Amino acid sequence: PLDKDELGRSTWGFLHSMASYFPEKPTMLQCADMTKFFNIFAQFYPCEPCALDFQEDIKKNPPKTKSRDELAKWLCERHNTVNVKLGKPEFDCSKVHERWRDGWLD
Ligand code: FAD
Repeated sequence: PLDKDELGRSTWGFLHSMASYFPEKPTMLQCADMTKFFNIFAQFYPCEPCALDFQEDIKKNPPKTKSRDELAKWLCERHNTVNVKLGKPEFDCSKVHERWRDGWLD
């Protein structure tokens, strides 16, 4: 089985990429479906303590799905909540698209 860290790294890669490729102007259905996706994801993420904390976090901070930028920033903040919990440095959320879509410019 994947260990918790390997699973986490791959999953964040998938989630941030999905957010950075979400439509800039999603339809109402796409907004609603993306909200559903995160609620279902939080229910089935295969690390139980991670999933339980993530469920609590998104209850307090529901998905923001009105645009690509909002979704990417919201997800970056959720990841930072986990980073803080684990004693890792926070990521600068102004750089999410650079990290996950456009590639580093340096
Ligand atoms: P990761 O945190 O996996 O990050 C991968 C890369 O993403 C980084 O190298 C960086 O380039 C980039 N990045 C970092 N922060 C951000 C950000 N805020 N926004 C955008 N990009 C960023 N582990 C636990 O031990 N306990 C938990 O409760 C827990 N909960 C988790 C909940 C979820 C939903 C997920 C997906 C993972 C969870 N994990 C948890 C795993 C944990 O978050 C890390 O994935 C794991 O510790 C490996 O960390 P890492 O240092 O390799 O980088």
